[in-house]
Amino acid sequence: MTSTVGSVSRLSESAGFLRRRTRTPAILTLDEPPGPVTIDGGTLLVRGWAVHRASRDPGEVQVVIDGERFSARRTVRPDVAQHLELDPALAVGFTAAIDRRRLAHRGHVRVEATFERAASLKTPDINFEHLAGDPVPVEEVGTCPVCGDAERQIEGSSDGLRMARCATCAVVYTVDRPTPGFLAARYSAAYFADEYLPALEAEADAMATHWSMLLDLLEPHRGAASRLFEIGTGAGRFLRAARQRGWDGRGVDINAAAVEYGRREYELDLVAAPADTEINPTAGYDAVVSEMSLEHLPDPHAVVARAAAALRPGGVLMIFTVCADGDSFTSLGMASPLVGPAEHLFLFSQSSLERLVTDAGLEPLLFWTDEAGDSIGVLARHP
Ligand SMILES: [Zn+2]
Repeated sequence: MTSTVGSVSRLSESAGFLRRRTRTPAILTLDEPPGPVTIDGGTLLVRGWAVHRASRDPGEVQVVIDGERFSARRTVRPDVAQHLELDPALAVGFTAAIDRRRLAHRGHVRVEATFERAASLKTPDINFEHLAGDPVPVEEVGTCPVCGDAERQIEGSSDGLRMARCATCAVVYTVDRPTPGFLAARYSAAYFADEYLPALEAEADAMATHWSMLLDLLEPHRGAASRLFEIGTGAGRFLRAARQRGWDGRGVDINAAAVEYGRREYELDLVAAPADTEINPTAGYDAVVSEMSLEHLPDPHAVVARAAAALRPGGVLMIFTVCADGDSFTSLGMASPLVGPAEHLFLFSQSSLERLVTDAGLEPLLFWTDEAGDSIGVLARHP
């Protein structure tokens, strides 16, 4: 029950609760254990699930903060429904995101649920406190950075920053965009050591399998020189996996600490710089890869154009990124763990990726998603 500007990895669902609950007629729980809550971003995010077994009524859930009531939105929670043997379509989850500017510096929060048969449930009071911090400096984005259209639908706010879906290409993008200086400062040595690397270690096996699949997809497009460039290398582990398959890889990352790590640990050829200034347009690469990086970059149109120019004829661009059309964003909206508008500036869709690669003169060969549809890939060829 905490939210920060970089909260994405910390909002994962807590399956432990499911195992500890016994079958009682009515249940209310939060996805994280009650305890002191610290808000170090711009939003107090409260999510969990509430159900009354004797009722088909999903009921109403309110988040009560020092006497002020905020309505929570009901959400579908297939995991909870399965555990409790309920209809998966029943909205048993709830979520509320409250801008910290509406809150006192510290106070108490509880959740209440009421159902048609007058059953009422309450959690205990939980203390919260938000850390003093400067507001995020923002510049409003006027038109869609992917297709240029101004028509859009505001999806909501998170961390006090609005996101909108483009009416033309369907990309979901941050409207109140943090300034370039703020974005660059976010990718610090502390971010790399405390957030990026632990998350990567926790998923090491899954990532190895994932990268192996990406490299399988690149294999038919490899030329004699096997030259590959990666945009947003992080620690360089994808490039290391590529090298083990015989690729000659180079890459760029904005985070100097990540670049230093990849050079030191794996002796990789990495440059610390913004992605769109470092792709050599005359390089003639067999493959350019952006693996979970495009959503972080302010101008994906420019990055993809430069990547396309750096390919040899017949070379391929591979993008794998976050998707707005999967289970997570579709059911949770702005409360989805994919949402972090100061970090994930975009949630893509097939149509927005198609627009990016075709505008750059590339021919899309393949689109694919992960099982939940929360990540999407495109492979596109230089003619
Ligand atoms: Zn658009």
